Amino acid sequence: RSKSAGRNCFTVYDEAMSAELEARNTLEGDLRDAIARCQLEVHYQPFVDATSGARRGFEALVRWRHPSRGLIPPDQFIPLAEETGLIVPLGEYVLRRACADAAGWPSDLMVAVNLSPIQFKEAELFEMICAALADSGLSPERLEIEITESVLLERGVENHAFMERLKGIGVELALDDFGTGYSSLSYLTAFPFDKIKIDKSFIRNLTHQPRSSAIISSIVTLARGLDMSVTAEGVETSEEFERLRALGVNFAQGYLFGRPQPVDEIDLDATESSQLDAA
Ligand code: C2E
Ligand code: MG
Ligand code: MG
Ligand code: MG
Repeated sequence: RSKSAGRNCFTVYDEAMSAELEARNTLEGDLRDAIARCQLEVHYQPFVDATSGARRGFEALVRWRHPSRGLIPPDQFIPLAEETGLIVPLGEYVLRRACADAAGWPSDLMVAVNLSPIQFKEAELFEMICAALADSGLSPERLEIEITESVLLERGVENHAFMERLKGIGVELALDDFGTGYSSLSYLTAFPFDKIKIDKSFIRNLTHQPRSSAIISSIVTLARGLDMSVTAEGVETSEEFERLRALGVNFAQGYLFGRPQPVDEIDLDATESSQLDAA
């Protein structure tokens, strides 16, 4: 290592980079182990019918139970999993777990599972989903697949065909985080979605900003015209929920109705009608 001042800048920079690389490699190794040792947990957050308040299902959200770092949220490891390809076994684990768990719930409850754009590049994705359904015994009508529009940017023809196959067996398709990405309206007509999930950033300040209401009511009108339903995600207050109901949103999800919870902690007998009484 050079001791000259000029070289030193680069040395410091190199060390910072290699420290970052090392931390990343450690995390990657840990994540690989976590998948092998089943340290990933799938938590479930309810969503409700906005009109009746009745619970309609749960979204499966992955967490990592790290031996020393505790429970790690998905935003802190999904990007790494996508970069390293570990999202493929991780995604399969979550889907299989979610189908198996949901198969034990009352049959009027759906389960929604997020798929990463990286998984869409897997040739056997459709077969894997069919196998997860068959092995769990879950009826395909009870499974909803959530994808973000980044999936639609590339491989449009292949992805369209894949989505048609899923619909063909009865699986529902939701466009997640609507409004955050490129949000080309042409995606809505070009791909066979059943549902649009409005990103929670539009729900925040809904009760203070008339502009947010205008956007949501436009999305509702658009969705109706295309025969799709609309979910509002990130609903935290009964004021927001009331506003969303008035705007014609079909489903609502958020802390108001429940946080994501481990499967053995969700109350399968509960109805959310008490939320409506409170609202
Ligand atoms: P998402 O699919 O849009 O999931 C909704 C996120 O919003 C979840 O964060 C949920 O906990 C959070 N949320 C729900 N209600 C509220 C609320 O009322 N207020 C606020 N502030 N937040 C709320 P989470 O669990 O941290 O997941 C973050 C993202 O990670 C997900 O966003 C999804 O894109 C991704 N993700 C989670 N699990 C999986 C998975 O199994 N596979 C893939 N590919 N991605 C996943
Ligand atoms: Mg989602
Ligand atoms: Mg979302
Ligand atoms: Mg999101």
